[in-house]
Amino acid sequence: MPEDSLLDHALVRLDEAAAHVSIDPDVIEKLKYARETTKARLMIRMDDGSRKSFLAWRCRYDDTRGPTKGGIRFHPDSTIDEVETLAFWMTFKCAVMNLPYGGGKGAVQVDPRKLSKAELERLSRAYIQAFARIIGPDRDIPAPDVYTNSMIMGWMADEYAQIVGQAEPAVITGKPIALGGSLGRGDATARGGYYLVRHLAEELGLSRTLRVAVQGFGNAGQHIASLLAADGHKIVAVSDSAGAVKSDAGLNIEMLLDAKSKGRSVETTVGQDGHEALSPDALVGVTCDLLVPAALENMIDEKNAASVKAKLVLELANGPVTPEADAILASNGVVVLPDILANAGGVTVSYFEWVQNRQGYYWPLEEIHERLRAIMEREGRAIWNISRVKDVTMRTAAYVHALGRLAEAIEAHGTQSFFVS
Ligand code: GLU
Repeated sequence: MPEDSLLDHALVRLDEAAAHVSIDPDVIEKLKYARETTKARLMIRMDDGSRKSFLAWRCRYDDTRGPTKGGIRFHPDSTIDEVETLAFWMTFKCAVMNLPYGGGKGAVQVDPRKLSKAELERLSRAYIQAFARIIGPDRDIPAPDVYTNSMIMGWMADEYAQIVGQAEPAVITGKPIALGGSLGRGDATARGGYYLVRHLAEELGLSRTLRVAVQGFGNAGQHIASLLAADGHKIVAVSDSAGAVKSDAGLNIEMLLDAKSKGRSVETTVGQDGHEALSPDALVGVTCDLLVPAALENMIDEKNAASVKAKLVLELANGPVTPEADAILASNGVVVLPDILANAGGVTVSYFEWVQNRQGYYWPLEEIHERLRAIMEREGRAIWNISRVKDVTMRTAAYVHALGRLAEAIEAHGTQSFFVS
């Protein structure tokens, strides 16, 4: 494995947590490697009649606590290392939330913004044709991730149904409501983070009106901005992959959402309603109380961590803060609510969707919100308490919390287990 792979970085967090608990070294050894990662080359017909191929993966990192669960990412920079790391994080995320799942992840190395809708559909169906034998409602359950959405999940669920000869809605989550999707899945990632911040606000010493900066304005970024703005908090800066905007008086969220819905960058709102231009690199260092990284991995690193002025970082992205940056933030007194807790609302409502699919009975939105709130508060509180008792960061506390559950399951399977290979 190359010296500085993303998975190596992620494993630093496992070692840090292991130092605070007495745990069988066999458990740590088992959690250091992906159980299986399958690679495929997806060949599709383009609209102009030519053929193009795309690399794709599906990783089932660990299935000790249940079927593997995790999204499928469509991104030009995706690699096998990234997929396995994201699957490692899913393993810990599902354990943090006590969902009966292991961790998995998938990706296609593609820029979906360069494909037509018909090409995107053929690519999504090709993914399922390649991995149909690996996934399944009791084996491995995909969901949306970066640059994939409910429409894509709908095509994938349909393709799976055609292959197995019957509808199997529980094979994939984040589906359109019409195909067995759950109410409340769309904003679940952001809503979970929102409930967490609200619940721990007093302990975190947050003021009544927060100034918030959001990095990344996709699903999670847009929803957290809307939820916090609706509560009277001020969104002072946002960025997307093409640019950034700021306003000390608070950005006009409706205007930003409108620009995004038309396929335009947030930057196109500069000059309107007090929106000023901001360099995307400067977003992390904007004066604010709460910084929400909601884009990709490694956005806060040893180069920009010292510029963070926020008191609190809510990781709605997976892996946005490097281990080196963690140390800088901690020594500057910045609290980080870690990804495996902060963005776990998404997979939690995915779990609700899977449960509803299997029982064929669908819950009202209020019930989804209430169940999500209760779980976020329960696990957030438990992790907060661990961090106080052990005097560790919230990230280390979250890993300690998850490790306890993973170790219990690994030991319960026994040494001859088929699952613990
Ligand atoms: N892709 C999301 C995540 O990273 C959701 C996964 C899921 O719902 O299975 O947590």
